[in-house]
Amino acid sequence: MQGSGYVGRFAPSPTGRLHMGSLIAALASWCDARHRGGQWLVRMEDLDPPREVPGAADDILSTLEGFGLTWDGSVRYQSKRQEAYADALEMLIAEGRAFGCACTRKMLADHAVYPGTCKQGIPGGQDARSYRFIMPEQTIHWQDEIQGPQSAGQEMLDDFVVRRADGFWAYQLAVVVDDVDQGVNAVVRGADLMDSTPGQMALWDVLGAGREAGHWGHLPLLVNAAGQKWSKQTLAEPLEVDRAPYLLMEALQLLGQLPAGGAGEIQASAGVSSILSWAVDHWRMDRVPAGPLYWQGGQS
Ligand code: GLU
Repeated sequence: MQGSGYVGRFAPSPTGRLHMGSLIAALASWCDARHRGGQWLVRMEDLDPPREVPGAADDILSTLEGFGLTWDGSVRYQSKRQEAYADALEMLIAEGRAFGCACTRKMLADHAVYPGTCKQGIPGGQDARSYRFIMPEQTIHWQDEIQGPQSAGQEMLDDFVVRRADGFWAYQLAVVVDDVDQGVNAVVRGADLMDSTPGQMALWDVLGAGREAGHWGHLPLLVNAAGQKWSKQTLAEPLEVDRAPYLLMEALQLLGQLPAGGAGEIQASAGVSSILSWAVDHWRMDRVPAGPLYWQGGQS
């Protein structure tokens, strides 16, 4: 580790090109890391081939570069980490913290959280289809640096899947294995992942070798005029590198970083590197709104 010891990351799934919602996450985590003199890693979460789009991973990296969001070290690809996830699952099973589950999606359709069917052993002669982590039976609390104090009670504490029935590793397991392995101690990401946080904190307790993630900050969601999350599903327009200065200014505005009443000290015409160095110098996490944030799109 270097500098302050802060290690943040941006962990996109290569399911399409980056859009304004992704820029909010990438820019905020980058600014927070750089402002605190920390490292910023990029990890490609390419664990779900059916959802991936050919060329998206390279496109994401060249977009980050075009927006001046440079990362430390080399990019980690989760697709190359199968063994680490298998070791983690083995360890969880050995410690009695995970179990094989034979339930089908249909059998669980009426349950908001896993009803515990296979927790004491798979009933009669069936094979495990998936593996689940056993959530501790306690309320989980954390201080979210953007969303404020949070707690997840029993009703949210699901014995979630760590290895899927289709044989792929679940995001929930891989994200914690890699955050622990890469020394990440600051998770700044979209508020759509808030519901995953209690489960990930519980996994950290087992896999984290005595370390905690430390900082958790969930960024406001970007929504369109209809109130829908700005995403590939709602046809969010991809980020265009030749509009980077304008879009960076829009993102900083949305993140509450520009002085009220307009940019004042910094303008899009200053160019990408000047905008970013201004943003790092002036970064204030406490100015980031909880959201949601309305954004009409990139037409200037
Ligand atoms: N790969 C996840 C996504 O693109 C984000 C993981 C994370 O930041 O924890 O939604």
